[in-house]
Amino acid sequence: MTFSYSAAFPPTPAVGFSGSPLDRADHIRRDPAALVAARADPRARWLLFDGLNPVMAVEGDGLDLQWLYRSDLPDDVVSVFLGVDAGDAPRFAASGSAADCPGRPVDARAAAMQLGDGRAAIIAHGRALIDWHARHGFCANCAAPTRLDKGGHARRCDACGAEHFPRTDPVVIMLAIKDDHALVGRQPRFPPRFLSALAGFVEPGETIEEAVARELFEEAGIGTRAVRYIASQPWPFPSSLMIGAFAEATGFELQIDGDELEEARWVTKPEVRAALAGTGDWLAPPPLAIAHTLLHQWANVS
Ligand SMILES: [Zn+2]
Repeated sequence: MTFSYSAAFPPTPAVGFSGSPLDRADHIRRDPAALVAARADPRARWLLFDGLNPVMAVEGDGLDLQWLYRSDLPDDVVSVFLGVDAGDAPRFAASGSAADCPGRPVDARAAAMQLGDGRAAIIAHGRALIDWHARHGFCANCAAPTRLDKGGHARRCDACGAEHFPRTDPVVIMLAIKDDHALVGRQPRFPPRFLSALAGFVEPGETIEEAVARELFEEAGIGTRAVRYIASQPWPFPSSLMIGAFAEATGFELQIDGDELEEARWVTKPEVRAALAGTGDWLAPPPLAIAHTLLHQWANVS
């Protein structure tokens, strides 16, 4: 789904892992009888995750989601309801071994990069849910076992009555901007020559704007005058929501925190355009990443 608003609001830029073609159909999730009917629907299909890798149909160099029949899957899979497609056909995600199924497991990031459209959003939805269920089998309140509820969009503890919901961890990711320069940096784990937007988790009791300002100051010693929201992105590794922003910086002087960043530098729009085109002297994030969207938006649109 691509949103666009009236002239008073600029359109939201397209980001990777967004635009799912599925309707999440909350009315089915909340209705146990409707869920049973959805599972029994002859049009129902499952996207299997082996570990956290989606099972894909592979044809030559091309990939597509491998939608499986329930009978293709092992009996003991965890199954979660993703929604319905444009023709109201139910779609589920499941976790289990792909050993006896059509298709093969593919690294989720590599699969999403090849799909490059709303099908990647289905991977994001399924992967984040499957991962959450795998790690939340016990109640955080009383330690009793929990059970899957609401088609997989909740877990319930029958011992103490607590209801648990899938977590989404907000992360701010931002370009500090001053005059005609934007700030990019590299974390020690990045590949050689790779530079990206700075990022960090939002902390409890903090606004998005405060998190942007704090992270820029902690990582690069940069002061922030104003913050502008640009776009957000689900990032299912395992369950982040990346919140992309531009931040107006108060100065150019950098003080790098050597733990989180090993380098940061101010770059110009022509330099960013060259990096995005693969012809620069540094490597920019791929289109799947919201950092790519931010760099593109700044260098080509804003
Ligand atoms: Zn409990």
